[in-house]
Amino acid sequence: MSFVKKIIKPVEVLVVASKTGRVTIKYPFEEPWISPEFRGKIEIDPTKCIGCGACVNACPPNALEMIESEDKKTLRYFVGRCIFCWRCIDVCPVGAIKGTRNFELATNDPLDLYDYIVHNRVKCRECGKVTGETTRMLKYVLEKAFVTENYNNKCPDCRKKIFINAISMRRTGPVGEKT
Ligand code: SF4
Ligand code: SF4
Repeated sequence: MSFVKKIIKPVEVLVVASKTGRVTIKYPFEEPWISPEFRGKIEIDPTKCIGCGACVNACPPNALEMIESEDKKTLRYFVGRCIFCWRCIDVCPVGAIKGTRNFELATNDPLDLYDYIVHNRVKCRECGKVTGETTRMLKYVLEKAFVTENYNNKCPDCRKKIFINAISMRRTGPVGEKT
């Protein structure tokens, strides 16, 4: 670059800048403009969530996890991993997740980065074994699909036994009876 160009270039930049005006704002003292399409942190409504785990399966960076214990299932959301793709919102069957435009997530307390929703697991009415369903999930399924009294609140093993018994009764009479 010649000496003259070296002098002229900054002057050109100054002219363009003076025409454009100031483009930055004094954040955080001034509110930034956020587009309507902006995707921020998600919020999960604990009163709506049924603990089905669909959002966990859909979450690309595993920001959502289902932690299983003896009698509980806990949905954990870690915002530190969230990429704000909002796929979880699309798959939630009960509309429990909503997107916000919140991006101000800095905190001194790491615990602020986690949200927890705790669900009770269903116990089998037959053998007392804890099943994979949550109580809310069972209620949701029973409202949506017809399941006979014989089969609900039962673990898969007990359901299988009841089903086999019902089939054999249809063919041969009650199990153990001679035909
Ligand atoms: S917004 Fe995307 S990354 Fe964040 S929890 Fe939902 S699915 Fe996971
Ligand atoms: S998909 Fe919805 S209902 Fe199912 S666990 Fe996630 S937030 Fe709860």
